[in-house]
Amino acid sequence: RPSVSGSRAEIVVDLAAVRHNVRILKDLVTVDGPVQLMVVVKADGYGHGMVEVAGAARDAGADWLGVATLDEALALRASGDSGPLLCWLSAPGDDFAAAVAAGIEVTAYTVAELDEIAAVGPARVQLKVDTGLSRGGAPHAEWATLFAAAAAHEAAGRIRVTGLWSHLAASDEPAHPANEQQEAAFREALALAAESGLDPDVTHLANSAAAILRPSSHFDLVRCGIASYGLDPAPGVSPRLGLRPAMTVRARLVMSKAIAAGDGVSYGHTWHAAEDTTVGLVPVGYGEGVPRAAGNTASVWVDDSRRPIRGRVCMDQLVIDLYGELPPPGTEVVLFGPGNLGEPTAQDWAEAVGTISYEIVTRIGGRFVRRHV
Ligand code: PLP
Repeated sequence: RPSVSGSRAEIVVDLAAVRHNVRILKDLVTVDGPVQLMVVVKADGYGHGMVEVAGAARDAGADWLGVATLDEALALRASGDSGPLLCWLSAPGDDFAAAVAAGIEVTAYTVAELDEIAAVGPARVQLKVDTGLSRGGAPHAEWATLFAAAAAHEAAGRIRVTGLWSHLAASDEPAHPANEQQEAAFREALALAAESGLDPDVTHLANSAAAILRPSSHFDLVRCGIASYGLDPAPGVSPRLGLRPAMTVRARLVMSKAIAAGDGVSYGHTWHAAEDTTVGLVPVGYGEGVPRAAGNTASVWVDDSRRPIRGRVCMDQLVIDLYGELPPPGTEVVLFGPGNLGEPTAQDWAEAVGTISYEIVTRIGGRFVRRHV
């Protein structure tokens, strides 16, 4: 009988899949011209491992890496990465000097941030304008002031404005009017920047969905996160392109046993067996980032078939329906994977629990052991 304690629950990340996806994205966006590809590896590489994914992405031809925080960018540099790297979410008190010294390109939304960066320059800075997401970036009314300040710092040799960019609100819905409006607003920002004497090396707007569905949004560079991990940025897009989900999440059955018709399962007895059946105990729960909402909604994969999760997901464990079978302890349970064998995917889990695949893969972790292959 396999040793259960010796077979820990694990997240297996297929770096060959990441490389494959990055090559597909690069080929896709360079069909009509020299568009650069930034692979977004923030939030620990969307749960896949920032440093490992970064290496795979560079190997496969990513021109840039992108992260949110300065700490993520510094961690990448500490791992040995030395290529073009942009971060875009600084917090008050952030040490821009460390970023500048490490050759990281930082993003400024405000004149105050620009002044801070210029004070520790010469620095390479990208400017972010808000074209309609109403999240980060300079609002329309402040574009001219921001550009003038940037031009002045550039003239003084304190910064070089290497990029100008924005972010879309509804790129996963190609027919949403915000896409057109934001593209037009971005073009307006580019024209104003040029009038202000700025000449950025790269201008960019597109994330994965726009990179794939909206060539008009490509400009000089696209920033692809989710598609690099093989997941769908918009319904049906990834399979059409042949992208391969890189993450498989698996555990081993602790026990299986019979229960009788009418028995309640897990806390609160939110599920009762309609007839005699068997159930299996899987030693992972919301302590590992398995969504509690997966109870009675998502399925796992055991012995080549899908088995539903019955009752509530607990902190450390969950119960699945084995439909009368009694597989031995140690039997492999795949929570989700690439889907090529019929196993559920992160997208299936997202739909089951009412979220997006981004949240599923980013939150899975805890006591899982992560392995890269
Ligand atoms: N660009 C920015 C500024 C982001 O915050 C993100 C992630 O949310 C991305 C690009 C990548 O988006 P996606 O994962 O949809 O490709």
